[in-house]
Amino acid sequence: MKNPLLNIALDVDGVLAASTIKWLAYYNKTNNKTLKYQEITRFDLGSITGLRNDEILKIFSAVWEDYRSMPTMERNLADTTQKMSKFGRVTIVTARTSDTVEAVEEWLKLKRIVYDEYRPVIIGMVHHPNPKESLNKEYDVFIDDNAALADGKRTLILRSQPWNQEVVASPPVYRVESVKEALPILAGGV
Ligand SMILES: [Mg+2]
Repeated sequence: MKNPLLNIALDVDGVLAASTIKWLAYYNKTNNKTLKYQEITRFDLGSITGLRNDEILKIFSAVWEDYRSMPTMERNLADTTQKMSKFGRVTIVTARTSDTVEAVEEWLKLKRIVYDEYRPVIIGMVHHPNPKESLNKEYDVFIDDNAALADGKRTLILRSQPWNQEVVASPPVYRVESVKEALPILAGGV
């Protein structure tokens, strides 16, 4: 049995999976829009598109249903997460609607993502800025793209995205351009 050095919470959407690319393509096609990825400058897609939260989530459900075509955010995630597992216990902590729970688990297997536990945090139809708020004490470090996790109370490795550029990276917040870039930070013990 390995010694759990760090309890690592690793996010899916916007970190491992490029689900916003799929979301955007679906949104543009079905609404006859030309919204660009770089224009998604806020985490709350409702404030960008004017869609209700249930409409936003419905698109995420649709794109995850076709999980086989869901791209990763970066290459070699199997290798990167294998290396990450040497630094501790990796839990996939992902806020999502219950109808996408299985598809995401299948996708993690398909992409050979290495992890110890899969922990979906089930969200309702009302927008919550940070569904992982209550999990602070359970993990030593979060690897996530949600700027709301940069609350100064937790160690956050923020996966850089157009919607989290306002966050000033200063410990305990680290900004990375890939999950691979998180490895040397984890090696340092965070
Ligand atoms: Mg995310």
